[in-house]
Amino acid sequence: MEQLYLICRHREVPNLHQYETYIQKEQGYQALQQVLKLSRDEVIDIVKASGLRGRGGAGFPTGLKWSFMPKNVQGPVYLVINCAEGEPGTFGNHEIIENNPHQLIEGIIIGCYAIGATAAYIYHRGEFKYGAEMMQRAVDEAYKQGWLGKKVGGREDVSLDIYLHPEASAYICGEETAQLNSIEGYLGQPRLKPPFPAQSGLWKRPTTVNNVETLAHVPAIIRNGPAWFRQWGTEKSPGTRVYCVSGHVMRPGNYELPMNVTARELIFEHAGGIWKGRGLKGFIPGGVSAPILTNDHLDLPLDYDSLAGAGSMGGSGGVIVMDDQTDMAWLAKKMVDFYSHESCGKCSPCREGTWWQKNLLDRMMTGLARSGDVEMLEMVSEQMAGTCFCPLGESSQMVVLGAMKYFRSDFERYGQGKAYDGVIPMSAIEHH
Ligand code: SF4
Repeated sequence: MEQLYLICRHREVPNLHQYETYIQKEQGYQALQQVLKLSRDEVIDIVKASGLRGRGGAGFPTGLKWSFMPKNVQGPVYLVINCAEGEPGTFGNHEIIENNPHQLIEGIIIGCYAIGATAAYIYHRGEFKYGAEMMQRAVDEAYKQGWLGKKVGGREDVSLDIYLHPEASAYICGEETAQLNSIEGYLGQPRLKPPFPAQSGLWKRPTTVNNVETLAHVPAIIRNGPAWFRQWGTEKSPGTRVYCVSGHVMRPGNYELPMNVTARELIFEHAGGIWKGRGLKGFIPGGVSAPILTNDHLDLPLDYDSLAGAGSMGGSGGVIVMDDQTDMAWLAKKMVDFYSHESCGKCSPCREGTWWQKNLLDRMMTGLARSGDVEMLEMVSEQMAGTCFCPLGESSQMVVLGAMKYFRSDFERYGQGKAYDGVIPMSAIEHH
């Protein structure tokens, strides 16, 4: 399968971040002009027909999400663009905002028109300094050209402002309701759902939260039609996505491919195979929140439904590859360290559970594991399942139970006084 550049068009078109290039080489803002002649429902119907699903994690159908927004409301309505990209192993969004910002802005304006929003907040990761600069420059150009502000594209009744909002680099602020709290200036903790953001979101107003990659797909879908988009991928997961490959491969990087690409093709053909001539032990298909898969899953297409059927998930599209010398208990410890650190503390199953997971894995790594620690780690993780307030805590239990399911012996060898023979993080040593 060839790499495709639907949203990574900048790889074929130099200087695509510039407004003039976007206009001359990419039919820039033509999709928006088309949209401004349609009703909001007609725009939603096109996106629904394309089958576009959110690329941020859950894979929820974008057109359907837009259709949940109330119609003819008085007062402000918002679109929030999730550019937090805090999932370890995920680095697709910043390539888009740095190199093709107008494509995203056009997608944002179309999305706002469809849901009736008059303000959009691009909630970007704090470290994305260069990407934020490129976005701001493009936003300024769009204002100058009349695509933002009052009378968007000359339409008297359409106005829109876009604001960039940096986050403070807390992983939990990638969760949509925590993100809304953060924009409002409160602690970034998730809100109880319902009410969902479409009913009560930013400042209690109707709000949709969409991911960067999702919105970047929209202009080309409008210009070329739903059937064009559906020629790639599967019936339920059409189009392409940016797979971010990292770990023990020869050529880590972003690969935009149809959503029915298999893990084998992505890892061994595009990413060059496993480094140092080693074999594959396992791979995480959708950022660290997705349970690990093995050699037996290499021929699985990397679409949402195939991965869910295999007990994992497409998540953020971050594919992390482990060679055959990787200790999966060490891997679990690295991931639990992360979740324990990033737990927002709101609910006890996650706050206490991640602490216990970390404590037990620290003991294993330092040779201080007691008899029964592996079983206790399993029990703690099982008790977290389905009891955490948001997906962060659930992810922590899923990655541990997922690793134990396929690689239990990697954990059991630590129950006999053995310490990890690689580099142990200082945090684990200080802990004891
Ligand atoms: Fe916070 Fe973790 Fe509970 Fe989510 S699961 S609300 S991150 S403590």
